[in-house]
Amino acid sequence: MKNEYLATYSDQVALVTGAGRGIGRAVALALAATGRYVYINYRTNEAAAKKTLEDIQAVCGKDQGNWQVGTGWQGRAELLCFDVSDQAQCEDAIKTIIQRHGKIDILVNNAGIKDDKLMVMMKKNSWESVINTNLTGFYNVTRLAVKNMIKNRSGRVVNITSASGQIGVAGQVNYCASKAGLVGATKALAKEVASRDITVNAVAPGFIETDMVDGLALDDIVNSIPSKRVGKPEEVAAAVVFLCSGEASYITGQVLGVNGGIC
Ligand code: NDP
Repeated sequence: MKNEYLATYSDQVALVTGAGRGIGRAVALALAATGRYVYINYRTNEAAAKKTLEDIQAVCGKDQGNWQVGTGWQGRAELLCFDVSDQAQCEDAIKTIIQRHGKIDILVNNAGIKDDKLMVMMKKNSWESVINTNLTGFYNVTRLAVKNMIKNRSGRVVNITSASGQIGVAGQVNYCASKAGLVGATKALAKEVASRDITVNAVAPGFIETDMVDGLALDDIVNSIPSKRVGKPEEVAAAVVFLCSGEASYITGQVLGVNGGIC
């Protein structure tokens, strides 16, 4: 861990939803590497979340940091299991963080799913599960977190949306609706809280090499990407870390594409 980051960010507490795998895992590792204390949220895949935790501890050590509180102490990061589509679970999780640390500095709303079908074939449960996770999940996690940020007059919210929500993709009406909704929510919330030194931004990845794109014909897809390759989770994480930094304090309500030039 670089010492200049430790000096600046070691008192900050971050929550990354869906941090066991893919983009969320890369974001958790990158935030921890800059000295923040990171809560690694997961829903079902505990083994993957534990691996994220172990990898953070391998880099950051188990005993560094300022938060030697209760039995939850595990170093510069710890696991927090909840389902972002369940309001009660989310609010309990946010309350747990605030009880332990008195604050939450950074919230990265990353957890997301897809359930692709053409609209005429789409059953209501495919619509609801994607909207409930990707969009209502944002509401469930963010409301109490932002309430605490307002009290502390400081905070960063980064929502992981998608290039799909910006351009529209056939077979993804539910997913595109959820991600476009997240962009609107980002811009509106940014205006509500800007005067309290809280920024709210979105990062919109294109095709990124994670479990989510398993099964897609990536060899064909790369031909339509100006960069002629898919992105890496670490490339998305770098954008998130920048938006969480002091240098990004005048950037709010924006959507930062990390997409190899597709839109
Ligand atoms: P993955 O499928 O690799 O990982 C998804 C993560 O979200 C997992 O950690 C999973 O947890 C978690 N998750 C899913 N549902 C819930 C839930 N209800 N509550 C809590 N956690 C949940 O996806 P990616 O890393 O690829 O995607 C991360 C984000 O980036 C998503 O919002 C996605 O829409 C977005 N995105 C991805 C792109 C890509 O090309 N990969 C492109 C554009 C946007 P668990 O493992 O415990 O189930």
